[in-house]
Amino acid sequence: MDYLPVFLRLTRQPVVVVGGGAVAARKVSMLLKADAQVTVIAPAVHPQLAAQAARRELRHIAARFSPGQLAGAVAVIAATDDAAVNGAVSHAAQQHRIPVNVVDDASLSTFVFPAIIDRSPIIVAVSSAGQAPVLARRVRAQIEALLPARLGALARFMGERRRAVQRALGAIARRRFWERVASGPVAVRVLAGDESGAAHAFGREFLGSQLTSAAASGGHRLGGEVYLIGAGPGDPDLLTLRALQLLQQADVILYDRLVSPQVLERARRDAELIFVGKTHGERGQQEHIHALLLHHARAGKRVARLKGGDPFVFGRGGEELEALAAHEIPCTVVPGVTAALGAAAAAMLPLTHRRLAHSVSFVNGHQGEDGALPDWRFFADPQHTVVFYMGLGQLPEIVARLRAAGAGRDHPAAVIAHATLPEQQIVRGTLADIVARARTQQLAPPALLIVGNVAAFAATAAACGFSASAGTPALAAGALA
Ligand code: SAH
Repeated sequence: MDYLPVFLRLTRQPVVVVGGGAVAARKVSMLLKADAQVTVIAPAVHPQLAAQAARRELRHIAARFSPGQLAGAVAVIAATDDAAVNGAVSHAAQQHRIPVNVVDDASLSTFVFPAIIDRSPIIVAVSSAGQAPVLARRVRAQIEALLPARLGALARFMGERRRAVQRALGAIARRRFWERVASGPVAVRVLAGDESGAAHAFGREFLGSQLTSAAASGGHRLGGEVYLIGAGPGDPDLLTLRALQLLQQADVILYDRLVSPQVLERARRDAELIFVGKTHGERGQQEHIHALLLHHARAGKRVARLKGGDPFVFGRGGEELEALAAHEIPCTVVPGVTAALGAAAAAMLPLTHRRLAHSVSFVNGHQGEDGALPDWRFFADPQHTVVFYMGLGQLPEIVARLRAAGAGRDHPAAVIAHATLPEQQIVRGTLADIVARARTQQLAPPALLIVGNVAAFAATAAACGFSASAGTPALAAGALA
């Protein structure tokens, strides 16, 4: 280890920055965030620094560098574009044993600035010891994506309750208690922006710990919880960051037929995976799923219920939520990219467009002939986009009903199968020929049908040189070219 990572308290501590350009200005911003007392030494300064000096946020000495200016400083930064000056600053600082950083020159520095992720009070610092700053920034970006945006709020939430917990629980029980808070319903609530729900859950958990010291010291989870997660249309990069975070901490994952293996790859390695999509979502299967959810949550597990697309779009998410609520199992819902949106993006087909369509419906194409159906005359208007979620077998029937409701033979239509996955297929046509075209292409489910003016839009996009043949491959090819 070439450097010891430390977090330095700089509040009202004098720090000298030699140099007045854009680089110096960036370092100064960071120092001011840490509440340091900054002195900038440079004959002339960047407008941002001049403004900060005018507001008395820093002191500007309009002069060339001389070693005496470093007296009393707790740290020095050299950010000039003159190697001789930077060298002189480094030499003088080291003589006085003042930590010094020369921007972009690790050999002249006794400390380096890491790439940071600021979720104050949680701060993550990444360093390559000055050897590969670009790589360090990439690592930072990767970690950044994994850390919930409200991590700082969670740290504060826990900080505010630290004393009360310290008074009430012994050391071992306390650590276990905080681990449960950080990985259970309390944290999930804070991270989802529901602080009052979190406070409620915290109260319950705290009371439970005080009452049952056995549970508190046995590391036993008092109550489990369920995450109802939308897995998106298939491409794992279309998972939301929150879905990913919760998949990484789930103990048990119940997934159905539409969840792609690529998405399951992103789950926690040692989570128990349970496939619950054997039958067609019949009544019995749904009840079996409810029973499994309850069983695992009651055993104290963190249960992820992973559904294709969005849990609340033809996903029976509402029913599962009701079942959980009836048994007071805490539940968090994470939205997903529904198949219609995934397919539209992959086919470069806007669902609304100022010239082509002003509204859009998502329709279950499996509807039987019952009386409660919406008026299909509305769906037959090409200015209205309709997305049918359906089995491919329903295609001829849907087309016939649209025609019967008044849609023309030339009404544009597109079928998109396996949207966003490598095996994606897009078939375009009109109501006159879409059934035959889909058959010729031997499409396999899952697939959806989009009808309306916008279904013809992709031709325009293709003419502009966009590739709508598949989701990511087009992009990947572009990146390699
Ligand atoms: N909750 C899901 C929909 C479940 S209903 C969502 O929000 O997307 C199942 C139907 O969704 C399938 O019959 C098919 O019409 C559609 N579907 C799901 N994934 C799809 C995909 N990758 N490509 C095309 N259609 C898909």
